[in-house]
Amino acid sequence: MAASVRASTLLGCLPFVVDTWTERSNASGKPHFLTHCHKDHTEGIENCSVDVYCTPLTRRLLLLRQPEAARSNRFHLLQANTSIEVTHGSVTFTVTALDANHCPGSVMFLFQGCFGNILHTGDCR
Ligand SMILES: [Zn+2]
Repeated sequence: MAASVRASTLLGCLPFVVDTWTERSNASGKPHFLTHCHKDHTEGIENCSVDVYCTPLTRRLLLLRQPEAARSNRFHLLQANTSIEVTHGSVTFTVTALDANHCPGSVMFLFQGCFGNILHTGDCR
């Protein structure tokens, strides 16, 4: 129990959110990252109004299935095997999208910054 509390506290301190589309995550204003377009990773995305980072193909697939997601989210497109810098508040970190080989457009995200190095795999093969 104590270990899970510490893990959730750590996740709450990170300057980004992955595959989570809750009222709370939206209110944080943190940039959100979408690993791929399977339904269990996009539930609630239509209610968010934050910056969303994903691959061009994931965005296209998402908008075919949930066109309402296009109204409120600002999409930033990331190609697999490329890195970008993202700033949230006073924190700047690097994100690298890595091919997850899970479904078309899917990627893992490698986050690097003052918090260390974190690889979020989403679903991968
Ligand atoms: Zn999946």
